[in-house]
Amino acid sequence: MTAFPLLSSPLTVGSVTLKNRVVMGSMHTGHEGHPGGFEKLAAFYRARARGGAALIVTGGWSPTTEGNLKEHRCEMTTEADAADHRVIPDAVHEEGGRIVLQLLHAGRYAYRKDAVAPSEVPCPINPFPARSLTAEEIEATIEAFAASAALARQSGYDGVEIMGSEGYLLTQFLCPRTNRREDEWGGSLVARMRFPLAVVTAVRAALGPEGLLLYRISAADLVEGGLDADEVIAVAKAVEEAGADALTTGIGWHESRVPTIAQAVPRGAFAWASKRLKQAVSIPVIASNRINAPEIAEQILADSRADLVSVARGMLADPEFAAKSVAGDRDGLNICIACNQACLDHYFIEEPASCLVNPRAGRETTLVLTPVETPRSIAVIGAGPGGLAAADALAERGHRVTLFERGAELGGQFNLAKHVPGKTEFQETLTYFKTRLERFGVTIRLETAATARGLKAEGYDAVVVATGVVPRVPEIEGIDHPSVISYADALTGAKPVGERVVVIGAGGIGFDVSLFLLDEEEACLDPAAFVHHWGVDSALETPGGIVKAPKNKPRREITMLQRKSGGFGKTLGRTTGWIHRAELKRARTQMIGDVTYRRIDDEGVHITVGAEGKAEDVTLLCDTVVLCAGQDSENGLVAALQAEGVEAHAIGGAKLAAELDAKRAIREAVELAAAL
Ligand code: NAP
Ligand code: SF4
Repeated sequence: MTAFPLLSSPLTVGSVTLKNRVVMGSMHTGHEGHPGGFEKLAAFYRARARGGAALIVTGGWSPTTEGNLKEHRCEMTTEADAADHRVIPDAVHEEGGRIVLQLLHAGRYAYRKDAVAPSEVPCPINPFPARSLTAEEIEATIEAFAASAALARQSGYDGVEIMGSEGYLLTQFLCPRTNRREDEWGGSLVARMRFPLAVVTAVRAALGPEGLLLYRISAADLVEGGLDADEVIAVAKAVEEAGADALTTGIGWHESRVPTIAQAVPRGAFAWASKRLKQAVSIPVIASNRINAPEIAEQILADSRADLVSVARGMLADPEFAAKSVAGDRDGLNICIACNQACLDHYFIEEPASCLVNPRAGRETTLVLTPVETPRSIAVIGAGPGGLAAADALAERGHRVTLFERGAELGGQFNLAKHVPGKTEFQETLTYFKTRLERFGVTIRLETAATARGLKAEGYDAVVVATGVVPRVPEIEGIDHPSVISYADALTGAKPVGERVVVIGAGGIGFDVSLFLLDEEEACLDPAAFVHHWGVDSALETPGGIVKAPKNKPRREITMLQRKSGGFGKTLGRTTGWIHRAELKRARTQMIGDVTYRRIDDEGVHITVGAEGKAEDVTLLCDTVVLCAGQDSENGLVAALQAEGVEAHAIGGAKLAAELDAKRAIREAVELAAAL
């Protein structure tokens, strides 16, 4: 008997019987539209199909040129495209999976000069103004969707998913926010629905009765000028009537100011939106957003809030999410921690999507851990994220691994990070690594400070130095004042923090510590607290489900300081930094840049603000000063080992403290393990 019986049970959707309830949701991998991309995509999806996903939805492919998300070509518009794609469904079918191609027309979200939309309404997140489609062009776009669907079938896909949410073209037609047309394609809801419904009808005709047709519906727009509950239900029913086999739940537009998938969002936080759909239609409904663990999925199914669950980033973190869930191997699951750092953020820096906790994601053909012919005896020093990942990957290859940790527990900086609101997810990563090391029989030596001489004496063939970083203590007069504490002391509660706090340094840790001190964790863990905190009306009585967020008295008075002039939080993630800035702004956190530190004393922190000539001396009264001033490498062991003639490799913070994060530490660990 499996621990997750509902999740493990089959379900017939349209003409297809799916072996379990796990759908891999649509994600862009960054390989779409790039040379060699089809082979990489085939390997990527093959791994997820082999890992048990019952149904896979590809990233979005456009039915027209102007519907592309960027200047790249990511289309399904020609016979040649259909031929190129064939390797993808073939790979998935060989593994016993099913796959549909997502058809996405970006509309006014197209980052291109030829962007089109229902109406010429400026877009807050796109500098390219979109031109209004003519009635003839609308008809042609409907035909283009149908033609793409036919090509998808020709390639071997089981069908398509029509992207009708997240603020893309179909949603733009549906909502008064973006549809100001006065012809038959705008005005009443019936008229605004005409385009999406015509697309569904035409695609159904092109697919024939056997082809699977999923429709990703915007179940909560989370923008002003979006739809209310009655309208969402009307759209859902009409889409079912027009021929959809299942509805995928879409949440929020990209321009929404409510987080929808980040760590600030509790697990399963939007299942209420799927439930509303499920009560309205008779076709299966797929829940989505922050479903990263099988118990969450099982509960959603048990509560009849959906028939299937969409797991997207969770499949980057662990391609075997479905198979391990069905087998009940919960501790062996590498859980997505919702950081966005190696997946969504990569989209904006033109890097292929990967995963912080699994750097092999997206690199199935290039980062491979093959079994070694001659196992070596390897010591890994430091059990932070990098050391854990190195020990795991080396052991997976068959090396004999001993992991040394000076502290009393595994985890390093993860043990600090997990105190930050939303970052409790890091505990999952620790559990995963601990389970893996145990299964691989890695020897763990806690409370053991490894020395070069000792390691040499023990005869290791190689040593991986993952000793990480030490917090930087800036040279400021009075830095040893009793009010000054380290970020580690603040996060672990080792030292008390007062009501008025100055945070020195505004990098990732400065932001994390400030958020931690505001004590708003509940909104990251409890769905009811989350919707209240972010001003979401889950009843959708208000169009778009947006109401005024409550104004709470901040728990503390916080001032963040940096020496740089210019904006704060520039180093934060592209898709998450805005959330942290919004939270701190709401708590009236003061942010002062262009600072020169003069001294710290009983009064507080004395600074000079501004450039010479316009500089002003300021005293910030406070009872606690928290140091978040960056890191220095702790890498003395590398030179000592080399002096002893021992093969040594530094990774992560021990290699380079600047711009260190867990993403780089884990990636370097796995890359090194693949090469050793
Ligand atoms: P960081 O991002 O390098 O920030 C260090 C901060 O300290 C900067 O604001 C810097 O600003 C200031 N600083 C540096 N030297 C100083 C000095 N001598 N005196 C006073 N201030 C000084 O480092 P971090 O915050 O420790 O973070 C470490 C790494 O973890 C970073 O790569 C970060 O991106 C990552 N991380 C990321 C997240 C995330 O949300 N993605 C969260 C936590 C950590 P000035 O030089 O302008 O004063
Ligand atoms: Fe999840 Fe972070 Fe991996 Fe993205 S990078 S899949 S958010 S763990």
